[in-house]
Amino acid sequence: MPTRDTRQRRLVLEAVRSRTDHPSADDIYLAVRERDERISRGTVYRNLNVLAEAGEITHVKVPSADRYDLRRDKHYHLFCVGCGAVTDAPLAYRQLLDRQVESDTGFAVERHRMIFEGLCPACQAKQKRPGAPENEIFEEKETE
Ligand SMILES: [Zn+2]
Ligand SMILES: [Zn+2]
Repeated sequence: MPTRDTRQRRLVLEAVRSRTDHPSADDIYLAVRERDERISRGTVYRNLNVLAEAGEITHVKVPSADRYDLRRDKHYHLFCVGCGAVTDAPLAYRQLLDRQVESDTGFAVERHRMIFEGLCPACQAKQKRPGAPENEIFEEKETE
């Protein structure tokens, strides 16, 4: 019979594996609470750390809150500075960079991380609306 600890860890793992949007620890806490209302925030956070250290999930560090990834392979991320969305970059991991740095420095490189920051298509569309305040201010300055 699984212990309470094992059961809670499985709930956290299932919550991360059920989403592809790189949820924050808080997102996972809210999802797990739907299935076990007695679980504490501390327990969820602790289990996320344990699972990430064990390589069951990946911890993704972005400019806002830390995020978690069901993918275990090395890959790069896109971070939207407008809405905070984190998505996978469609770009193969550049193993060659690790080898180059290793031969130039003698450092035993395990991996490198890359986050592309910018605005997602949805946030760009919001900014480009005609008559947006940003454009009006710019035009006024030009005519002075
Ligand atoms: Zn966005
Ligand atoms: Zn990812």
